[in-house]
Amino acid sequence: MRHAEISPNIFLFPQGLSRLTLSAVTLEDLGWNEFFASAFSRLPEKDWVPARLIRESPINYGAFLGDGEEIDVVLSGKVWHDAVSDAELPAVGDWVAVKLGGENEDHVIRARLPRQSCFSRKMPGKSTEEQVIGANIDIVAVVTDAGEDFNPRRMERYFTLIQRSGAKPVVLLNKSDLYPKAQSKEAASVLQALCPDASIHITSALHNTGLKVLLSHLKRGTTMCIVGSSGVGKSTLVNQLYGEEWQWTDEVNEVTGKGRHTTTARELVPLPKQGLIIDNPGMREIQMWTNEQTLRESFSDVEQIALQCRFHDCRHQNDQGCAIRQAVQEGSLDAERLDSYLRLDEEIEKLRRRQKKRQINTERRAKRDHRVKARNLNDRIQLEADEIGLIRPEE
Ligand code: GDP
Ligand code: ZN
Repeated sequence: MRHAEISPNIFLFPQGLSRLTLSAVTLEDLGWNEFFASAFSRLPEKDWVPARLIRESPINYGAFLGDGEEIDVVLSGKVWHDAVSDAELPAVGDWVAVKLGGENEDHVIRARLPRQSCFSRKMPGKSTEEQVIGANIDIVAVVTDAGEDFNPRRMERYFTLIQRSGAKPVVLLNKSDLYPKAQSKEAASVLQALCPDASIHITSALHNTGLKVLLSHLKRGTTMCIVGSSGVGKSTLVNQLYGEEWQWTDEVNEVTGKGRHTTTARELVPLPKQGLIIDNPGMREIQMWTNEQTLRESFSDVEQIALQCRFHDCRHQNDQGCAIRQAVQEGSLDAERLDSYLRLDEEIEKLRRRQKKRQINTERRAKRDHRVKARNLNDRIQLEADEIGLIRPEE
């Protein structure tokens, strides 16, 4: 057994700023099960050890070993070459077989174990390349509310993604304190009809109500990720799940500009009691992507017609054999609808800008909240120094 300066029952978080004591760490706590064990036992080499990837950077990965020790690992050339597409490369959440390096030697990923589930999306733009957002995720919790954020079409998108991944869909209709009970219940039944498999819960992260049921999904070793629009309460929720200790750490991280809103460092982390959470930038992009897809899909009727255009690169202007123009002439397609369709890319760009702005506002608010909470003078001084030039206070 290898031992660094940290004791086996202490997790060192990726940023090295916080430590969380867990009673005892085993592979099972990290999500290991028979499926992975049996795949691992079939590997040729006997001196490899299992590890779970918790973080990904352009040059290496962070991984947890079975005793909770965090190590950096690099990819072996063979694993890299054997992957026929990016989607086959190891990703956060994957179990891998690692050959531990000796002194001045890298720890090397020798094999990636098969995945039990895989949360992915197509890359933005026209490329069809698949991007893995997280592997071996058991539960995807979508946070929304029964009011402002409620959008069944977008939720349908999420459900499709989740079910394709093999994870279990959970929905939190958050901010229940803001809406009449009947409204939340109505929203829940609309969503339940869209996805009979989903567990739907009415919660208030702010008042810590309804969160016990979420925890009840988190068995030992269960990996969950939380997605949803910015501002729906994901951070509040995560803070509630972590409890006070984490909350404080998170503030410190944000203060140093290394908080979860600005860094890619923190990705897969164990919860204090049991279960793990995946939180990475890709997760946050899913929402934008989902909106984009929903928008595109809402024009599927027009795209159907476009398939009949004589030329596959028809611009639907005055091109010869344009089925869309013909449909407009015949009155089977609304001219205004065609206009919006032709402006789709522009619309998507607008959507991106709006969401970006919303996210910036949410992050500012979070910073401000944390500033108010800074607990001692030194923290405040450090905090203000760090913020100058980065974020100009609102008002
Ligand atoms: P995120 O962008 O999804 O991480 O959202 P945040 O957790 O940052 O929350 C955005 C805002 O909504 C914050 O001001 C929270 O205090 C507030 N909020 C979060 N959950 C609730 C809730 O259950 N009820 C109410 N009323 N406000 C909430
Ligand atoms: Zn055309």
